[in-house]
Amino acid sequence: MSSSEKPAILLVDDVPANIQLLAGFLSDMYEIKVATSGKRCIELAGSIPQPDLILLDIEMPEMNGYEVCQKLKSQTSTASIPIIFITAKDDDDDEEFGLELGAVDYITKPVRPAIVIARVKTQITIKKQQDQLKRMALYDQLTGIYNRHYLMETADLKIAKSFRHDYPISLVVVDIDHFKSINDNNGHDIGDKVLIEVAKLFNHTTRKEDIAARFGGEEFVLMLDHCDLKSAKSKVESIRKKVEELKPESLKVTASFGVAQLKPGEELDNLIKRADDALYEAKQTGRNKVVLG
Ligand code: GH3
Ligand code: MG
Ligand code: MG
Ligand code: MG
Repeated sequence: MSSSEKPAILLVDDVPANIQLLAGFLSDMYEIKVATSGKRCIELAGSIPQPDLILLDIEMPEMNGYEVCQKLKSQTSTASIPIIFITAKDDDDDEEFGLELGAVDYITKPVRPAIVIARVKTQITIKKQQDQLKRMALYDQLTGIYNRHYLMETADLKIAKSFRHDYPISLVVVDIDHFKSINDNNGHDIGDKVLIEVAKLFNHTTRKEDIAARFGGEEFVLMLDHCDLKSAKSKVESIRKKVEELKPESLKVTASFGVAQLKPGEELDNLIKRADDALYEAKQTGRNKVVLG
């Protein structure tokens, strides 16, 4: 859920009138999705854009709410969607059972709008915070592209996959040239904007299955899937040209690139080190260039 759009709530009840009642006082603040069966609920919960909260009836024919909850909690793709049971059952044991299955709250019918609104709001706030934490763990706060943590987590998987299926991967370490002078001459804020624009360029010029990550300061790593050293060379050369032509904040900005292709059995740290050594050579021999390791 991005902060600009309304959070989405999935209302699930076999009786359409019950859904209408809830929708009546929730639709001002939330985008409403509806399902009149457990099966449909599971489908909608798993499709993008996913709901941020599910209000789930318990007594339904075919698949009851408990079963639906169990199923949703057992699939990684839907496990983090909070569920509030809304039900005519008002026995303490039922409530306990529902919460044990992983629901976050339990509201009994007949519903009181003010109570539902308040409890829904609490859960949506928590969900937003969790989404925000997830984003922060994966993405660099300044530039919005992947961060170092994400790269290190994902790169090992990519490497294992490339060994298993025997296809090449190349890794690029990029460092902006004389970035300290860009800051010194134009201010740190302009420096930040330059980083954002360059990061966007890396994101756009790589494929969806590649990783473009901010590795730290003014350093980036690109991991190119299905790409041997020869293809990487032309690809990275074209990215180097695009950086040169970008003129972020109307400034001439260039970057140096070190490229290495993954060797059989090689570990990530070593691959990064070889690309970094190539980058060092690029810096030593004039900058604004691509060096292959
Ligand atoms: P070289 O061509 O050898 O890479 O020179 P350089 O000036 O780019 O390298 P150096 O490592 O001396 O300086 C990097 C600068 O990047 C210093 C640091 O203040 C700046 N920097 C690091 N992170 C950020 C950031 O988030 N925002 C801004 N504006 N500057 C940053
Ligand atoms: Mg029912
Ligand atoms: Mg640097
Ligand atoms: Mg630099």
